[in-house]
Amino acid sequence: MPSIDLRSDTVTQPTEAMRSAMAEAQVGDDVFGEDPTLNNLEAMAARKTEKEAAIFVPSGTMGNLISILAHCARGDEVILGDRSHIFLNEVGGMSALGGIHPHIVPNNDDGTLALDALEKVVRHTDIHYPPTRIICLENTHNYCQGAPLPLGYMREVAGFAKKHSLGIHLDGARIFNAAVALNVDVASLVQHVDSVMFCLSKGLSAPVGSLVCGTKQFILKARKLRKMVGGGMRQAGHLAAAGRVALENQIEPLKKDHQLARQLAQGLADITGLELNLEQVKTNIIFFKLNHPKVEPEAFLSHLESEKIKILMIDPAVFRAVLHREISQEQIVKVLSVCRACLD
Ligand SMILES: *Cc1c(COP(=O)(O)O)cnc(C)c1O
Repeated sequence: MPSIDLRSDTVTQPTEAMRSAMAEAQVGDDVFGEDPTLNNLEAMAARKTEKEAAIFVPSGTMGNLISILAHCARGDEVILGDRSHIFLNEVGGMSALGGIHPHIVPNNDDGTLALDALEKVVRHTDIHYPPTRIICLENTHNYCQGAPLPLGYMREVAGFAKKHSLGIHLDGARIFNAAVALNVDVASLVQHVDSVMFCLSKGLSAPVGSLVCGTKQFILKARKLRKMVGGGMRQAGHLAAAGRVALENQIEPLKKDHQLARQLAQGLADITGLELNLEQVKTNIIFFKLNHPKVEPEAFLSHLESEKIKILMIDPAVFRAVLHREISQEQIVKVLSVCRACLD
C-alpha cells in the first residue's frame, strides 16, 4: 500500500503527460539562449502573468534571491513578514549573499502585513538609516495556513509602495492556488507587483523549477544574477517541457486539492484533542494543534506513520498537512479514521 504523504505538495511526481513531454522535448544550450522549449516556457509565463518577460530558475529560493538582488544594492533594506518563507526558510540568503538588511513586521493570521505596521518601518532619509527599497509579500501565505491575499489588499499595498517610492516583490510560490481560491485571474493578482516568483514544482506537479516574471530590464538583470549564483543551465528544456504541461493542465485541478483540504479540515476539527481554525482553511494547507490529555505529539506522529501516513510537525504539537494531486478522497477518509482511532 503506498503511503499517504501530506508533508508537502512538493512530493508530487510528474504526470504521464509531463514524462512524455520531457522525453520528446527539443532542447539547446540555454546559457546561449538556444533552448526553444525553455524560451517557450518563459514566454508562456510572461503571458500568463502579463509581465514583459520571465526567467526559469531551478528553485523558488533562487528565484526570490535573484529578485531581491536585482531590486536592491548592498546596504538596502527589505520589509517582509515575520512568518514569511523568505525570512524563515531561505537561509538568510539576502544578507549572506547580498548584504541586504531584512526588516520584519508581524504577519497577520491572514498573511497580510498591516499598512500602519508598514508605515512605521519605512525609513526616512536620516543619516543613521539604511534605505528601504522593497516590500516582499507572500501569496498564498504558507505559514499563515495557506491564506490567499485578496486583490484588494494587493492593490492597497501597491498604493502604499508607490507613495513611498518602494518596489514590491511577490513570493508567489503558490500564486495559482491563490488565483483559483479567489476565483481571479493570476495576471490581475500580480498586476500591482514589480516582480513575482512562482513554483512549478509544488501543487502544479512539475519535477523541478520556478519562474520569475517582471519587466524586460528587470529580467535581464535577474539573468545575470542567476548566472552569478550558478543557476545558468544548459539543456534545461527537458525541465521546461514539464513546466509547460504544468501551466497548461495542472492549474484547474488545484480546486480539487482545496476541496479535499476543506474536507480533511472539517473532519479533523470534529476530533477531540485536535484544534483547528476552519475559517482559515482556504487553499491546500492545513495547520492543526494536538491538545490531548493522553496522547503526546510524538506518539500521534508515529501512530500515523505506522499506518503509512506522513505529516509534518512544524512546532511542538503543531502539525501541517498539505493537499496535492496524489491525494484522493478515499485517502482523506482513511486519514480521518486513523486519527480518530488514535485519539478516541
Ligand atoms: C517552497 C516555497 C519557496 C521556495 O521554493 P523552493 O523551490 O523549495 O526553493 C518559497 N516561498 C514559499 C512560500 C514556498 O512555499
